[in-house]
Amino acid sequence: MRYAEAGYDLEIDLTRGNIERVESDPKLAELHLGGQGINAKIIFDRVGPEVKPFSPDNLLIFGTGLLHATPVVGANRTVVNTISPQTGLFAHAVMGGWFGPELKYAGYDRIIIRGKAEDLVYLWINNNKVEIRDARHLRGKGVTETAEIIKKELKEPNAKVAAIGMAGENRVYTASIEHNWSSASRGAGAVMGDKRLKAIAVRGTKDVNIAHPSELWELTMRMRKEIHDSDDVGDWMATDEDDSFHHNNFRWGNVRTKIPDYWSKELEDRWYHLKYDNMDRQIGCYNCPKNCINVLSYPGRKRFGYKCYGKATYHMAAFKELDFSYEILGVAQEYGLDSYSTPQVIAFGIELYDVGILTDKDMPNFPADPGERTWYLLERIVRREGIGDVLANGVYWAARQIGKGAEAYDHNTIKKFEQVPIKLRNFNPTYFLMYATGEKGNITQIEGSFPQDPLPTREEREEFVKDWAAVPDERFKNWFVNWEKRHIISNEASCAIVDWNESMHYIDDATGICAWLSSFNGQFCGYTPYHINSMSHIITLATGIEFDKDKLWKVFRRNRNLVRAINIRRGMRRADERPPADHWEIRDEEREQKLLSDYYKYKGWTMDGIPTKETLDNLGLNYVSEDLMRRGILTDGQDPGGAGSEQ
Ligand code: SF4
Repeated sequence: MRYAEAGYDLEIDLTRGNIERVESDPKLAELHLGGQGINAKIIFDRVGPEVKPFSPDNLLIFGTGLLHATPVVGANRTVVNTISPQTGLFAHAVMGGWFGPELKYAGYDRIIIRGKAEDLVYLWINNNKVEIRDARHLRGKGVTETAEIIKKELKEPNAKVAAIGMAGENRVYTASIEHNWSSASRGAGAVMGDKRLKAIAVRGTKDVNIAHPSELWELTMRMRKEIHDSDDVGDWMATDEDDSFHHNNFRWGNVRTKIPDYWSKELEDRWYHLKYDNMDRQIGCYNCPKNCINVLSYPGRKRFGYKCYGKATYHMAAFKELDFSYEILGVAQEYGLDSYSTPQVIAFGIELYDVGILTDKDMPNFPADPGERTWYLLERIVRREGIGDVLANGVYWAARQIGKGAEAYDHNTIKKFEQVPIKLRNFNPTYFLMYATGEKGNITQIEGSFPQDPLPTREEREEFVKDWAAVPDERFKNWFVNWEKRHIISNEASCAIVDWNESMHYIDDATGICAWLSSFNGQFCGYTPYHINSMSHIITLATGIEFDKDKLWKVFRRNRNLVRAINIRRGMRRADERPPADHWEIRDEEREQKLLSDYYKYKGWTMDGIPTKETLDNLGLNYVSEDLMRRGILTDGQDPGGAGSEQ
């Protein structure tokens, strides 16, 4: 009997209209857990480096986490993986809500989609009954409108729907897949649109077997109360009315302008009223007692939702106020546009116009007001009209397509992807490594277990580490207690901290646990319900597979190296692992390169960032090392940096 897993994948070939229910290999859960781990294995095996993102051979995989549909609280993140048209690399997109658990209740661990439909279709998964249905009547419809229409025509109000909007249909690189005001972006929406798949609707009413049900139930009920009662977990930024952090520290416009004293009490009061006067409700995700998503009903707009920094991106890019974001979010979300990268693309276009690289010929009747300009470009990007067709490819590609010096204004992308709009003064070793080597597009997908900054006094730091249950070992406590200045920290500590930060994200992405209860949360106060010391027992109770901390860490390393191998095979190398030149004012090239070399060595990678044969073989990834050797990327025994294989 399979525990915690459904044991079946859905293989959908949209070209042939073929649907297959395929039993999955039971050994994979022990090796990769689920979610992104198994998705990466499938993409490595089946999507070679010659496959272009918009090829019918590219796969789009919706993966449930191993702990979805178990009683484990907050296990609801669905991971969507593919090859991204923006980066040409493995795309990692993740959405909360209800989709993954519902899919597992329908009897599937993942949906693997290949091919391209002739015209727009949607997928209807109702337990054993799976259909590819005509979606031509949904062309151009918004994401929530699409979900409403589909549920109505299926007469299934409880179906969970993930849909693309006009942006995805038009293969805009910043298109997202939207579900319940949670979205999966970073290239996934564009690939879904390329496959002409408008939406997936799922209804599942089956059971999922648990290996040790009563023990798991007792443990999770205890944790549920703890999570419910704690103010330290969940997206506290969604409910905290003081958003001085983003507004005073993040950059406005095309990531140029800092307004350090922007926030004021008067502003906070005004925005508080604007929010609660228009607030419909605050909602949470499947099996979680927190309510992190603000759902707003703004006059003349479809309802929209936001968390964390999501409310600020548009008005900060356009130098406007919160009401501007409310105006635009109700439209942009329906279009299925990612609200992190899209505003940056728009601000980039505005800046190019202001400096004369783009002209009235490119942008006829371009308005003077930055808000109207934002609307102007948004409407063209989503339709790929005029200059919008160029900007729809994201800042990196648009800059190269436009030329005439536009590349100089692309100053906030790494590996061709827009980053969070931050520019700082002092070089930060741990953040340098995370920005440089992360392969998930965004710093929030790698940071989070170790605090971003030291606490001011030694006493406070000692207090912080006293009950720090999440640390992998005592070294982290010592490093934190002795850490006085953000930029002064040893290479040894930096490597270990980044590795730890990354480990928890990879485990979350494989189990489906929300990062706000795990990998992203520990940095704020040390407390997080899920951590490297607690996870293995929970996984064992759910699956019946014996896990301990070391075995779990090895799964992280296996999944991590698999993702890296996919990208290495696609040409990613050391030269790509550079934060933008102006990310920190004060840089030290020698230190950066030494740090990168030390980190590669720590990870068991060559000095070009390629996992060594020894590293791969020790993780049971012999087929990966053989593939890299066959392609001439690795040679037998290659270990030019003296990299070890086990940490
Ligand atoms: S903590 Fe918030 S974002 Fe995470 S699962 Fe719970 S409700 Fe969703």
